[in-house]
Amino acid sequence: MIQPHLQRIAIIGGGFSGTLTAINLARLSTVPLRISVLNCTYPAGRGIAYSTQRPEHLLNVAARNMSAFPEYPSHFVDWLITRTEYANIPEAELRETFMPRRVYGDYLRSLAWHYSGPLNSRSSVEIKNISIEVVDLIPETQGARLILADGTAMLADRVVLATGNEPPADLNGSAALCDHPAWCANPWIDWGKKLPAPGGTIVLLGTGLTTVDAILTLLALDWRGRIHAISRHGFLPQSHFKGVDVPDFPPSDVDLASLGLSELVALMEHHCERLRTLGANPAIIVDKLRPHTQRIWQAFSDKERQKFITHYAARWNVVRHRIAPSIHQTITAAVTSGRITTTAANITGLRAAGQKITVDLQPSGGAASSLTADLVINGTGPQTRFSATHSPLLRALLKRGLAQADAADMGLKIAPDFTVIQKDDQPSPYLLALGPLLRGTLWETIAVPELRGQALRVAQTLLAAAPNSLAAEAAVIEYCI
Ligand SMILES: Cc1cc2nc3c(=O)[nH]c(=O)nc-3n(C[C@H](O)[C@H](O)[C@H](O)COP(=O)(O)OP(=O)(O)OC[C@H]3O[C@@H](n4cnc5c(N)ncnc54)[C@H](O)[C@@H]3O)c2cc1C
Repeated sequence: MIQPHLQRIAIIGGGFSGTLTAINLARLSTVPLRISVLNCTYPAGRGIAYSTQRPEHLLNVAARNMSAFPEYPSHFVDWLITRTEYANIPEAELRETFMPRRVYGDYLRSLAWHYSGPLNSRSSVEIKNISIEVVDLIPETQGARLILADGTAMLADRVVLATGNEPPADLNGSAALCDHPAWCANPWIDWGKKLPAPGGTIVLLGTGLTTVDAILTLLALDWRGRIHAISRHGFLPQSHFKGVDVPDFPPSDVDLASLGLSELVALMEHHCERLRTLGANPAIIVDKLRPHTQRIWQAFSDKERQKFITHYAARWNVVRHRIAPSIHQTITAAVTSGRITTTAANITGLRAAGQKITVDLQPSGGAASSLTADLVINGTGPQTRFSATHSPLLRALLKRGLAQADAADMGLKIAPDFTVIQKDDQPSPYLLALGPLLRGTLWETIAVPELRGQALRVAQTLLAAAPNSLAAEAAVIEYCI
């Protein structure tokens, strides 16, 4: 029997976003809550990014900026200091370190355990972790009924979508390869068992962070063979660096959000050029834009967003998503020594060639060519066309009109308080969303510095609506991105 004011909150997805939403609810609520975190595929608390077991996979953000709580910026570093292996590293050095991602996963798991375990001081808040996929959602008079992959159902008053990153999109010809021994469609699921014998050929599709992960693992395993990495531009990620001070960017008298795309690009190019002439790395300009990026994106017209995606997004991503200097050195050395070849070309098709796979390529302005490999890994990054999602749950939400894609078809349309907007343009009475699902609305919404603020804000929205909640006021904590 449900107590009269006991809210049942279902969080779908147990990566960083879902876990931190549950934790924030637990630490801020002054009313009893029953929270269920439903998660599948990757370990709860870790999600895709922090479930890697490989020590060479490092965070791409320094420890100082990886706190799970916006109002306690040193929380992750303080937690690291409690561990014997980091206790003797000077704090200033620790703050700048790029930790193994599995250690960050330990941090998240320890937080989740604390807030859902028996010593949770808010014992009136129950957090239950359930390993199962949610495949559908049916509105009820109050809240919704979640349909689970085993055919059972669960009732919830409020539901949070924290389903995270989608696997990479299909490529031309990839559907026919799903059972092929040389094909790896999801680079985040262990492909070690498919590793070809030394002397073979591996083709990595994409040259971003996922491909960097794969290269690091191949080098760590000392796998000897040919490694090709292919993308339209062929650029591997740049390194983080200690930038010069640029006090005049952004200019104090300019409202960046009201500039519009063309003027913004002109302003950035002007400042980048000035830094180049000074011999400084212009990537610092992209870093300095980060606190303003969401506001700028929201002020763009649909046409400007489309133009940005078509003309600037690839360049932006290379500069914005940088890697730890130590990783950059390793990758650069492997490219220089010829262990890795990068190619700039469009991937036009994939086809089986016996036990191998042939990748067809079209370099811009060059002749078509192909590469045949013993293993082809799709590292082209999470699928971004929302309406093409393979998630049964997200497809069901769209079909039932319980959600709609944003104008750029990159994710869900939401209200400023993270409530999902239904197909009839009305805010959902029970459904909220956060994380990479909001790319079309916020653009910058995939990394911890953004997601921790969202997880807090979503918890605040839920608590403000909890009947008899004192938490509406108690939970109003300033958060930053
Ligand atoms: C390889 C990689 C490395 C990264 N490194 C960093 C980094 O160093 N620093 C940083 O700030 N960010 C990093 N990121 C960004 C990363 O996206 C975020 O930090 C964060 O992990 C995203 O968490 P999430 O919970 O939103 O999504 P996810 O981690 O994708 O978790 C979502 C979870 O929901 C589950 N799920 C989905 N649908 C359902 C369903 N229907 N039913 C039940 N469960 C479901 C998924 O299986 C998954 O377990 C990295 C991302 C990747 C992919």
